[in-house]
Parts: sequence; structure tokens; C-alpha cells
Amino acid sequence: MEVPLLDLKAQYARYRDQVPPAVESVLDSQLVCNGPPVRQLEQEMAAYCGCAAAVGVSSGTDALLSTLMTLGIGAGHEVITSTFTFFATAGVIWRAGARPVFVDIEPDTFNIDPAKIEAAITEKTKAIIPVHLFGQMAEMDPITAIAKKHKLHVIEDAAQSIGATYHGHKAGSIGTVGCLSFYPTKNLGAPGDGGMIVTQDTQLAERLAVTRNHGQGKTYHHQIVGGNFRMDSIVAAILSIKLQHLDQWTQERRGHAARYNELLSGVDGVVVPHVRDGNESIFHQYVVRMPNRDAMREFLAEQGISTGVYYPLSLHEQECFKDLGYKQGDFPESERATREVLALPVYGELTDAQVAYVAGKIREFLA
Ligand SMILES: *Cc1c(COP(=O)(O)O)cnc(C)c1O
Repeated sequence: MEVPLLDLKAQYARYRDQVPPAVESVLDSQLVCNGPPVRQLEQEMAAYCGCAAAVGVSSGTDALLSTLMTLGIGAGHEVITSTFTFFATAGVIWRAGARPVFVDIEPDTFNIDPAKIEAAITEKTKAIIPVHLFGQMAEMDPITAIAKKHKLHVIEDAAQSIGATYHGHKAGSIGTVGCLSFYPTKNLGAPGDGGMIVTQDTQLAERLAVTRNHGQGKTYHHQIVGGNFRMDSIVAAILSIKLQHLDQWTQERRGHAARYNELLSGVDGVVVPHVRDGNESIFHQYVVRMPNRDAMREFLAEQGISTGVYYPLSLHEQECFKDLGYKQGDFPESERATREVLALPVYGELTDAQVAYVAGKIREFLA
């Protein structure tokens, strides 16, 4: 049996009938950049995330970068984030001219450890970027309390957690802003790149929209230096179609996760993902821990099962950040996670038989 890690063609087959009229309508209008479908998606996404406003942008990375630019975070400033995340989270801090300051993770959720944030705060700190990794939100109550106490912005990196909740609050709705990614492999994936910033602050949303278009308020009058962070209309139109299916797809992912949990819980040599009380995960990834991860991965590949390693290296260990002065051993939980994590296929279109096959092969290897 073949089990890919993700099957976007199978997903496309479920909504492709809806696509041609939407694309034709954009092409007929010729408003192909940042046009009416982007305005529509912004309204839908603000509502979906429980936010007052949303600003469509060119990618999840640009959502984060343009937020830092809009908040005036740059040279001489520090921004705190997790060392166990996708590169973009820290890359944007660097590109804005600020210094990324890393914090270790909690071993059960892989999210930033709130208890370790305060020690990383200095007079230069301007913001915390908690990352809601693998579909589960970070511990936003303590993070928000720390941010309030030290007057810091909280920029939620919700690229992997659209629709996840923390004590009833949607990802992106708690911080100064939330940043979403529509990269094709994300739970809500675009036909290309795309991203969105959601916020409760409508005035900030207006400023973010100015940054998105070269800092241009009135045409050819530039209040600030922004960038080209615009979203394409075809991307937005197709995302509006896919958004109608998102909750269904999330339920399917949760079903697969529950089945894996049943089949793998208590098996020696596997730790299944932990979703904390008060959290609802969207299972962007279903990540288990295994001490002999690499051998397991090779064995599963031989059985036709594709898996993923997110991430094989912490950010403080990346070559490009060596000048920040971190060394191996600085963040032991993250470093242990890089050796133990394995993402199993969890996309909606998987069959129960495929899930059972994957779990069975894992048990076979460990027996
Ligand atoms: C995907 C991702 C991003 C970047 O989003 P892009 O749309 O690919 O630019 C940022 N942070 C995290 C945690 C991500 O997973």
C-alpha cells in the first residue's frame, strides 16, 4: 500500500468543479492584483478567525514581515520566538533588522515555553512571536500576561493553525495580530503563495494595508516605506471556495488523529501528540516522538509510507544565525525534539485502511 504524506490532487478533485467559474470571473474583470476577491476573502477570514479585520498579503512570511515593519520593529530591537519552528518566523525578524531571541519549547506540545520567556526579555524587546505549531495553539494566557506586563506586542504565527482554538479563542484573535499562511501544503492551501494578517484593531489593519502597497496612502504618495505584499485575486477567489470546505477537512484530520491515538497509545517506543485541555488542534501535522526515529522512517519508506521531519534542526543551530552566539545545548528540549519527531500522514482524504496500515507498520517495527 502507498501512503503519501499529503495528496493535494485528491483534495483538488473534491472542489475542482467550483474553480473554473471563479477563475473566469477574475479574468473577465482583469482586476487580478489585490482585487475584489481579496476584499471578500478578508471579510470571510476575519469572521472565521473571530477578528475585526483582515489584510490579505502575498505569503505567510510577508504577513509576519509586513507586521514587524508596520509596528516599527527593526534595528536595535529584539523579538522573542521559539527556536523550534519553520525558518520564516525568525527570518523575518532578521530581515526587519531586529535580533531574534530564542526560547526553548514545552516537550508535550512543541510550543514555546512561557516559563522561559521572561528571562529572555531585555530593554530592547518589542514583541513575542508565539508559533502555534502543528495545529495547536501556544499557551496564550501566560504569554499575554507577560506581554502586558512588559508592554510587548504579541504576533501570533498561526501559519499552521488556522481555525485552532485556545479556551474558545481562535488562532490569531488574541494577539496584536495573527499571521496566516496559504502555502499549498497548509490546511487551507492556495494555488500559489498567499497569506493574511488578522487583527481586532481596525486602525492597525488600515496601516497594514498601506504597508502592503509600498506604504502608499494616496496614490504615489508614500507615508512610509512598505513593500509589494499584495495578494493575487485568483488566489483569493479559490481560497474562498476552499474555505467552505475547511471545517469538514479539519474534522477528517481530527478523525484520523483519534484513530492513530487509539492504535498507538501505550505502544512502547511511541509518544502520541498531546492536545492540552482547552485546546482544539487542527492537526496540521500529526507528530509522534520516537527515540529511534531515523530507523523507523527508513522502515516506513520501504513499506510505501511517506513521513516528514519538522524540523531536523533548531533555529539557534542554523548556520545563518551563528553570529547570534547560540551554541548546542542552549535549548535541550528543542534539540531533543529535532532528533525524535516524526510526522505521519494525516490529510483528510486518507482512508481508515491507510491509517491502520501506517499504525500497524509502526507497531511491527517496534515489536
Ligand atoms: C509556512 C509557515 C510560515 C511561512 O508561510 P509562507 O506562506 O510559506 O511564507 C511561517 N511560519 C510557520 C510556522 C509556517 O509553518
